[in-house]
Amino acid sequence: PRLLEVDSVTLRYRTSDSVITATSKVSFDVDGSDRFVLLGPSGCGKSTILKAVGGYLTPDEGQIRIKGAEIKRPGADRMMVFQEFDQLLPWKTVLENVMFPLVVTHKLNKNEARDRAMDYVRKVHLEAFADSYTHTLSGGMKQRVAIARGMCMEPDILLMDEPFAALDALTRQQMQDELLQLWADTKFTILFVTHSIAEAIRVGNRILLLSPHPGEVKAEVSDVDRVS
Ligand code: ADP
Ligand code: ADP
Repeated sequence: PRLLEVDSVTLRYRTSDSVITATSKVSFDVDGSDRFVLLGPSGCGKSTILKAVGGYLTPDEGQIRIKGAEIKRPGADRMMVFQEFDQLLPWKTVLENVMFPLVVTHKLNKNEARDRAMDYVRKVHLEAFADSYTHTLSGGMKQRVAIARGMCMEPDILLMDEPFAALDALTRQQMQDELLQLWADTKFTILFVTHSIAEAIRVGNRILLLSPHPGEVKAEVSDVDRVS
């Protein structure tokens, strides 16, 4: 099986007076060292699909599998990075934020967790800020912390939901480049959501283009590195 299989997935939201189909019968596979991008306009269902891959939503129809096994709940094999700058714990430092899931989820002892977390703090060039509280950092630095925290768990796949959308244009481009440099080291698998064509072409090697109509796939581009 592929690392991630999204197999004819439909997801609906139910409110007190209506049912909203966020995506309908969407299928795609993500493998090995893919930087797979879900691209489409706001409201086309990208975040919903990503949350389901994260295990936070259950498909109404179809199946999502990791290494052939159906996803039942969130797991440390699928770490998520969000758009919001407030995904970090404000009463913890940079290093403590990165360490936290290693201690809680991977049950590493403090010293092991600290060493591994520090490796990843260095990878995102924040060693000088390891002991700073995250509220003192810029938006781009906060997103670096979130990326380090996700990566240090060494998940099967890193799920990124518009991680750079709230950054100014220059910082956004720097972060895209940094992400590619990080990826070049270990070729980890990325599933990345964006509404920006420019960002999709920059970040992705495969792009699934979704239409504003839920579940309508316009195109899949498979060899972006050669196209761009
Ligand atoms: P995108 O990430 O592409 O902007 P979303 O997955 O956020 O799209 O949203 C897809 C559709 O589902 C939209 O019509 C949106 O309004 C709706 N939706 C998203 N979240 C909820 C929710 N919690 N409750 C009801 N409808 C929602
Ligand atoms: P789009 O969502 O229209 O595809 P991109 O994210 O690809 O936009 O950005 C294209 C260019 O538009 C950026 O390089 C930047 O110069 C400018 N831009 C877009 N959004 C913003 C923003 N929120 N703040 C500043 N510049 C922006």
